[in-house]
Amino acid sequence: MATERTFSIIKPDAVEANNVGNILAMIEGAGLKIKAMRMVHLSRPMAEGFYAVHKERPFFGELVDFMTRGPVVVSVLEGENAVVAYRTLMGATNPANADAGTIRKQYAKDIGENAVHGSDSLENAGIEINYFFPGYELG
Ligand code: ATP
Ligand code: MG
Repeated sequence: MATERTFSIIKPDAVEANNVGNILAMIEGAGLKIKAMRMVHLSRPMAEGFYAVHKERPFFGELVDFMTRGPVVVSVLEGENAVVAYRTLMGATNPANADAGTIRKQYAKDIGENAVHGSDSLENAGIEINYFFPGYELG
């Protein structure tokens, strides 16, 4: 088992619905430690850069509209196998397929407005953490 860091976004739908506290409680309840956290309203260039891997997908414009429509909560999470642990806690991208007890099962509306983001690999976690948190903000 390895201690890892991963990157999380609580998306605009969940912030609008007052679910930030509930989602953070699920994260802490799963044993993940919050190492850094900030609320930010993403600009279009920030959102486009963050999801650049999806820029050819038909839903890209919709995704950027959604991610920029209100503030989000970005954080760095640490724990044993944090990347997979947080993806497991999040549940499937489409909440219709998400397991009981996951964040998306409880708080996501649909495949687009799905409450949270989590890094999908250790390599991407490092890239995404650097995108939002300069080293001096991290212990
Ligand atoms: P995330 O990267 O946000 O953690 P994910 O890794 O589960 O989600 P991805 O395939 O990376 O899923 O898709 C990124 C995001 O794009 C999704 O979380 C969702 O908000 C949006 N998205 C994905 N597929 C669709 C779709 N078919 N229609 C609309 N939006 C979509
Ligand atoms: Mg993804």
